[in-house]
Amino acid sequence: MTAFFTLPSLPFADDSLAPVISANTMGFHYGKHHKAYVDNLNKLAVGTEYAECALEEIARKTAGHPDKAGLFNNAAQAWNHAFFWESLLPGGGGKPSGKMAELIDRDLGGYDKFKADFLNAGLTQFGSGWAWLVSQNGKLAILKTPNAETPLTGPAKPLLTIDVWEHAYYLDYQNRRADFLSAVIDKLLNWDKALERLNA
Ligand code: MN
Repeated sequence: MTAFFTLPSLPFADDSLAPVISANTMGFHYGKHHKAYVDNLNKLAVGTEYAECALEEIARKTAGHPDKAGLFNNAAQAWNHAFFWESLLPGGGGKPSGKMAELIDRDLGGYDKFKADFLNAGLTQFGSGWAWLVSQNGKLAILKTPNAETPLTGPAKPLLTIDVWEHAYYLDYQNRRADFLSAVIDKLLNWDKALERLNA
C-alpha cells in the first residue's frame, strides 16, 4: 500500500526566514521532524479506518483516547507543522494593518499588549508545545497547548501559531526561547494568512 499522507511543500524557500530561523534549523525542523510525523502517521494508519482520513479528522477522532496516542500525536503534529509554516512569511511580522489591527485593538488591548501576551504564552508553555492566536466566540484570544495538542479538537478557530518545542529554536537561539518568539512575532508572522483563516 502506498503512503497516503505526504509532507507538504514549504510555502517559502528554506533559507528565506533567515536570520530569524536559519536554513540549518529548517533542514532539521521541516526535513527531519515534520517529515518524521508524516512518516510515522503512514506507518500507524495503514490498514486502519484512519488510512485515508484528513489530518484534522484523525486528530479530532483520536484526541483523549490513550490507546490512540500514537495516531493523535503524529496526525496533530503533522497538521500543526503545516499550519505553522503557513503562519510565517519572509518579511512579515510586526504590527498588522486593517481588519486584524482593529480586532487586536478591540479584543487584545492593542498590538503591544498582543505581542507581550503572545510571547508570554510561548515562553510559559512548560516543556514542548505551541502558542496560538485563535478566534473564539467572535473574539481573538491567545492560547498555549502542550506537546501535540491543538485547538483543532476544541471550539477555537486557530489563526496563527508558533512552535515552541526546543527543536524549533535551539540551533539558532539555544535556551533563549523569548528571543526566538520576539523575532518571529516582529519579522515573520503572516497577518494576511491570519485574516484569510478568520474569514474562511
Ligand atoms: Mn516542531
